[in-house]
Amino acid sequence: MTERFDAIVVGSGPNGLAAAVTLARAGLSVRVYEGEDHAGGGTATRELTLPGYRHDVCSAIHPLAFESRFFREFGLSDRVAFQVPEVSFGHPLDGGRAGIAYRDLGRTADGLGADGPAYERLLRPLVERATRVATFTGSPLLRAPDDPAMAGLFGIRSMEQGSRLWNARFRSDAAPALLTGAAAHTILPQPGLAAAGAGLALTTYAHARGWPIPVGGSGAIADALLDDLHAHGGEIVTGLRVTSLRELPPARAVLLDVTPRALIEIAGERMPRRYRRTLAAFRYGAGVAKVDFALTEPVPWTRPELRAAGTVHVGGTRAEIAASENAVQRGAHPERPYVLVGQQSLFDRTRAPARHHTLWAYTHVPSGSSVDRTDAVIAQIERFAPGFRDTILATASATAVEVEAHNANYPGGDISAGAATMLQLVRRPVLRADPWRTPIPGVYLASASAAPGPGVHGLVGWYAARSALRHEFDTGILPDLSPR
Ligand SMILES: Cc1cc2nc3c(=O)[nH]c(=O)nc-3n(C[C@H](O)[C@H](O)[C@H](O)COP(=O)(O)OP(=O)(O)OC[C@H]3O[C@@H](n4cnc5c(N)ncnc54)[C@H](O)[C@@H]3O)c2cc1C
Repeated sequence: MTERFDAIVVGSGPNGLAAAVTLARAGLSVRVYEGEDHAGGGTATRELTLPGYRHDVCSAIHPLAFESRFFREFGLSDRVAFQVPEVSFGHPLDGGRAGIAYRDLGRTADGLGADGPAYERLLRPLVERATRVATFTGSPLLRAPDDPAMAGLFGIRSMEQGSRLWNARFRSDAAPALLTGAAAHTILPQPGLAAAGAGLALTTYAHARGWPIPVGGSGAIADALLDDLHAHGGEIVTGLRVTSLRELPPARAVLLDVTPRALIEIAGERMPRRYRRTLAAFRYGAGVAKVDFALTEPVPWTRPELRAAGTVHVGGTRAEIAASENAVQRGAHPERPYVLVGQQSLFDRTRAPARHHTLWAYTHVPSGSSVDRTDAVIAQIERFAPGFRDTILATASATAVEVEAHNANYPGGDISAGAATMLQLVRRPVLRADPWRTPIPGVYLASASAAPGPGVHGLVGWYAARSALRHEFDTGILPDLSPR
């Protein structure tokens, strides 16, 4: 007898699993198909260098999960233990100087000298409304904001920090470096509106609830979702890459945690031509090259405060980072790149054998790059932490091509699953009030390529599942997601 399911989910990243959990909690029969041998997509933790050293393969730092409405309803922090460093992120500068973003905005401003008051004025109104900032940035941009006053404050600040006037309020280099270090997570040209908006949101969370690190690694987030899925009757098949809707058992709803490019491959023949053209026009951005380290001791940063930071943004001043990020956009591999560094083992002793440490790092590269950036990453860290080289026991690197080979949702190494430009945030992937519902009956897009975009927040899967519940199962009632 042919198996039947109420809903099928393709792809088990945080969005796919958020969709699956929401549907299973609504009492539906759900099966998830995952192309890789392990479930979890961008939330995975493995021994990449040496036995006993556990590395986050993709995502590592989780302000977006902490601020996500889906994960709040799911009760993520009751299911996974998080460590929240007192220093959300640090930013070393030459000459032994640094900007330090404490969870406490006032303390951060105190450390920024003459620029402290200007930095605090920029961020205080947002930090005081951090939850509303998260609701705004975690909703499709087409939707009218719940809090127009906050949206105005956020918009004006984003326009300032995303324009050539970005230095107008500052006199020194530490405060601008802090802001650009966060904005550069977006892998977009600098300065720019979308990068500034994302950077301000991340900086707001840094000073509000912090940038949390899951104990045991990001894989603990996937495990919590999988446990809940299994507890509510859902199932998962791994090692099966879906290439066509025809391969799937019958189901009333199919939710795809894939890119628009893969959606065309899987369902293109059933799509209206106009929708297919729009998906084909969706643009992918620059990629990342990753380097993981096993270390004999913590990174010997010149500035001791950086040893208390969960994340360190390496790359020098705002002008230097803008120049290297813009060079990547033009297809270059800058000699002194911007590097994102995660120091999880300082806060979570499950990551490495006693007294030893792991280090997580990645840098931006042109789309499809096959260049190993290990040497450039080491040189940049060594610049602000002389002696770093001597602490390295082993490294494991992944070029942008290899990043894509491990996860089809990162074309050319683009970990945003589509450039997060302003245009593609408004139209992600199509200009619709319900961008998750495709014109193919019963088929939904549930990946970071849809609104509200990249990051581990599960919101895309949750919105897609809510749309499917409404349209395919005639229920507007949202299931309870809390741990029970
Ligand atoms: C190096 C790196 C660092 C990152 N750092 C952070 C961070 O610190 N914090 C943060 O919030 N975000 C971070 N991200 C981004 C984050 O991981 C993603 O935005 C997030 O995982 C997207 O979730 P998703 O469910 O949409 O897709 P993914 O997590 O990418 O999962 C998609 C899944 O679908 C599967 N799949 C795709 N196509 C098919 C198919 N045809 N058949 C079957 N299975 C399929 C894939 O194998 C994959 O498992 C990082 C990403 C990378 C790579």
